[in-house]
Parts: sequence; structure tokens; C-alpha cells
Amino acid sequence: MTIATDPKPAMARPAAALDSALAQFDRAADYLELDPGTRAILRAPKRELTFRFPVKMDDGHVEVLTGYRVQHNLSRGPAKGGIRFHPATDLDDVRALAMWMTWKCALVNVPFGGAKGGVTVDPSTLSKRELEAVTRRFAAELQGIIGPDADIPAPDVGTNAQTMAWIMDTISMHAGYTVPGVVTGKPVVLGGSAGRADATGLGVALTAERALQRLRARLDGARVAVQGFGNVGEAAARLMHERGATIVAVTDVYGGAANPRGLDPAALKAHLDATGSVQGAPDTEPIGNAALIGADCDVLVLAALEGQVTAENAGSIRARVIAEGANGPVTPEADTMLRERGIVSVPDILCNAGGVVVSYFEWVQNRQSYSWPAAVVATRLGDVLGTAFDEVWDLHAERGIDLRLAAHTIAVARVAEAQKLRGLYP
Ligand code: NAD
Repeated sequence: MTIATDPKPAMARPAAALDSALAQFDRAADYLELDPGTRAILRAPKRELTFRFPVKMDDGHVEVLTGYRVQHNLSRGPAKGGIRFHPATDLDDVRALAMWMTWKCALVNVPFGGAKGGVTVDPSTLSKRELEAVTRRFAAELQGIIGPDADIPAPDVGTNAQTMAWIMDTISMHAGYTVPGVVTGKPVVLGGSAGRADATGLGVALTAERALQRLRARLDGARVAVQGFGNVGEAAARLMHERGATIVAVTDVYGGAANPRGLDPAALKAHLDATGSVQGAPDTEPIGNAALIGADCDVLVLAALEGQVTAENAGSIRARVIAEGANGPVTPEADTMLRERGIVSVPDILCNAGGVVVSYFEWVQNRQSYSWPAAVVATRLGDVLGTAFDEVWDLHAERGIDLRLAAHTIAVARVAEAQKLRGLYP
């Protein structure tokens, strides 16, 4: 097992997500006039691990899969970031997602650096036994790299609380005792936090609501379209619906469901559980992703994958506010077009930070061996996100800069300060 520490990772032909992450960082670094040394340190991931591992499939054949863990920056604390199981996951994607985690943790002021991991695999093609085998072998390969004081994974696309339970158990079997703090987003009975499952979606709802309030509008009565109906999108749709919003359209990777009079997120979830997609839910019309992006709505929630809004489709957006539940869902070119049209984007590192905030709470609870009631988690989450939102909005208003630049400026400045205070070793 080797960890490459190449200061100049192979970024000659970056994937779209990495392009976006680097462009966003450069913009903030220019604005902050970061010195060249700090800029070079923060621009490159600190550690990258790529590994292949064999898994025996149900029919007896052996599949060799590729896994990744990238730790972008550790200046502010242990690395923190999700694990993605997706057929298109590659090293550049994981690099981008790890960098975004560094800024996100700094923006909401939790004492973590940024990381991300993944396996290039389509989990929907695996049986439960195969999924468990993939997860356990992946976790075993990360033994010694992840841990409560070093690097703490959590769920992301294609993974969930069950995945975290298998990772925790695998690491615990190797340690010889239970290590609950090695992952967050665990089932509550295994030391997971109350409120973690909904935390990212709740953060999307809370930050979208605050943005609407700043624009003298309300979430109650707003029309909302949601791309992606997984961990983030389902909770965001449900919690926005509970706050009085009308969910007019939802899509997933297979199709979508629309009804201008409003959808019932609980009925959509039941249909998803029964059929594997929201498409075809009762009292709905089918809708594709292109139509969803251009849907007639007040708030567009992007909760699927990166790079969904591009220069090609940004012109079709009719929403007033975009809530970036996903990481990097809007390319830099599209972002410029949206700003010119006066569309307000709540940037990903703020909008979807609810998950990492409650992950931090879960990690603290695990270290204390003491569980907080759901109401305490919800109140503290609201406080942390409210503070971060106001800091971003106030900087944007004071300096006349967009919300994304404001968010990145705050975050990058915090990481740069930590980096400088720690100094260079030796
Ligand atoms: P998930 O796998 O639970 O759900 C993803 C959803 O997006 C599914 O409904 C899927 O069908 C849909 N989807 C995939 N490709 C699509 C496409 N091309 N068009 C439309 N829909 C598509 O994943 P998740 O955990 O909800 O993550 C979604 C996004 O939120 C990712 O960008 C992830 O990095 C980000 N995020 C997740 C968390 C978390 O706590 N899970 C936290 C912060 C950010």
C-alpha cells in the first residue's frame, strides 16, 4: 500500500469537476492575493491513494475494482469527506470533491480538513452480498489511513448508513475493539447521530429559505423543482414541502415526475422504493432532466451530481434561486451566465454543509460516548448554518461580490491562516 505525495498531481487534462474546483479556488486566491507558496500548497491534494482490489461476485468470477481516497488538506484537523460508489468516479473527481470538503469544513468552522473517497462501480448492479464485500474490502484497504483522529468517511452518492456500518465493523474487526468514530452517517443504533440522515437536505432547505428571506421572498408558498431524489434531494424535497413549498417537479437518473399543483414527497418516496424511480408516480406527468432544469419555479434544487448546469442549458433556467445540494452542480461558465441574469446561487459549500456539520456532531458524540437529543442537534445545526450563511451574505453585500466568491474567500482565508500559523515542517 503506497500513498503518493506528488506535489504536482496529474492535472494536465482535468475532468470537469476538477476544472470547476480549481477555477473557483483560483478566483478566491486571486481575490485574497494569496502568496504563491500558500497558493501552491492549497491548490494540490496532500495525499492520494489509488488501489485495485479483487472481489468475488455471486456467480464465482473475480472482479478487480479501483478505489480512491484523497486527503486534500489537513491544516485545520483530521480529514473529513464522503465515500462515493459510482461508475464514473475517477481520481480527478475525487480530487475535486476532496478540495470542496476542505473549503466546506472551513466555511462552517468545523475542525476538519477535506477528503473524499470512492470506488468506480455501479452499486445498482450489485447484490447486497456483493455490495458488502466491495465495501468491506475497500475499508480494509484503508486500514491505517482512516480513523477517528486521521480521516473520517461519511456517505455520499451510492452509499448510505448501511455502508458506514460495514466500514465501521471492518475497521473494528482489525482493531479488536469497536471504533465508532471512524465513520459518520452510521445507523443511530451504532452510534450515529440523531438528525444525520436528513442533515444535508435540512441544510439545503434552511439555506434556501434564508436566501429567499434576504430577497424578501418566502419558502412558504414557493414553487420548487428538485434534480436528484437520493440522500440529499429526497430530504430537501420533503423538508421544503413541510415548510409550505410546492414541489412541482422531481427527477432521478431514470426520469422524473411533475405536477404544477404540487407533488407529495412521501408518495414519491414510496413509488421510488417500490419501482426504483420517481417516474410514473400516481398523479404525475413524466419530465426529463432538460425540462426540470428549465422548469417554471422559484427555487431549483440541484441534488444529483456535478456539472449538471452548463453554458448549454444555463439560459433555460427560470428559477430565482438555485440551491446547490450537490457538489459542483454548476460549471464556472454557467455560473457567470446565471450571475449576469441576476439568479442567486446558494453555493454548494454552504448549501449542502448541513451533512458535515451533523457529521462533526456525530464525531463529537462518539468521542464523548454521549448522545445528544434530536432537538439539540437541530438547534445547533441551525445555529452553525445560520452563522455561516450570514457571514457569506454580509461579505457579498459589503464587497459587492457574488455568494460563491464570498464563501470561497472566507473558507480559503481560514485554511490559509491555519496553514501559515502551523508553518512549514521542518
Ligand atoms: P444519492 O446517490 O443518494 O442520490 C443521487 C440522486 O441523483 C439519485 O436520485 C439519482 O438517481 C440522481 N441522479 C444521478 N444522476 C442523475 C442525473 N444525471 N440526472 C438526474 N438525477 C440524477 O446521492 P446523494 O448522497 O444524495 O448525493 C447527491 C449530491 O449531493 C452529490 O453531489 C453529493 O456529493 C452531494 N452531497 C451529499 C451529501 C450527503 O450527506 N449524502 C452531503 C453533501 C453533498
